Amino acid sequence: MTERVNGPPLQQHRTWSPDAARQAHAERAAARALDALYRQADTAWSGFRCPASAECCQLAETGRQPWLWRVEWEALRSAVPEIPPPRPDGGCRFLDAEGRRCTVYSARPLGCRTYFCHRATGPAREPAEEMDRLQRRLESIARSVRPDESGPRPLTAWLEEAGR
Ligand code: SF4
Repeated sequence: MTERVNGPPLQQHRTWSPDAARQAHAERAAARALDALYRQADTAWSGFRCPASAECCQLAETGRQPWLWRVEWEALRSAVPEIPPPRPDGGCRFLDAEGRRCTVYSARPLGCRTYFCHRATGPAREPAEEMDRLQRRLESIARSVRPDESGPRPLTAWLEEAGR
């Protein structure tokens, strides 16, 4: 700590690093861009409906799971204070206790924003071109923060990396 002539001692600041500042700026910009991309995805699928049975969130049963870039994982992770423990039914850990509702709905990854359940109803044609565009945009957002990231990873891989 640095002594002041008058008054209490000042706390010494950590050394400012241009690289760290650039990275922090890139991460904030990526989080905003991801938020905008999620809203675009919701708009693209806005004509579709499902009965909200959460069947698509029964990951062990369906054998499918969302794949996330790190920027998505971090958005998801920051939406909950703690990563929930595994569920006995093999459903996604982010389901509520009854297994009916996503507890991270506003931060759910892009893969969870598409209606891949056979119960979904809506226009005859899915917004495939818009989804391709959004996937490319998502990659570019992810690489704006981590240019060398190899690609998206399954949710279970992120949970394993987090030690859960
Ligand atoms: S994150 Fe939410 S929407 Fe996605 S699989 Fe898990 S509970 Fe379902």
